Amino acid sequence: MYDNNNVFAKIIKGEISCEKVYEDDDVLFFKDINPKAKIHILGIPKVKCVDLVDFISNYDEKTISNFFKTTNNVIKKLELNKGGYRVVSNSGINGRQEVPHFHIHILGGEILD
Ligand code: AMP
Repeated sequence: MYDNNNVFAKIIKGEISCEKVYEDDDVLFFKDINPKAKIHILGIPKVKCVDLVDFISNYDEKTISNFFKTTNNVIKKLELNKGGYRVVSNSGINGRQEVPHFHIHILGGEILD
């Protein structure tokens, strides 16, 4: 069940500010407030979805491919592909997901632990 009041839903609605890296009508990429690497970006689609499986199972191919193609563009825009990077998506209790809106973490800019 999607929580309309989760932090990322509030960011999408503009109720909470964030440091935007890229935004359009469908997606938002912004800086993590508590970065775990020199560069730590979060990417979210603007549709209501809890995690990766919810997103891919319940939305159309255009929405899904647009999100991952934009992820590709953001990685290249930040030149993370030159030195390497990590993309992670946490889900649920076992995955230690804190915010119940599907998101990816893009980490890079240094050698990661
Ligand atoms: P996860 O454990 O995958 O759900 O990670 C949620 C991430 O969201 C954490 O890395 C937090 O630091 C980050 N976060 C939480 N609130 C905000 C916020 N208001 N702006 C930016 N990042 C946030």
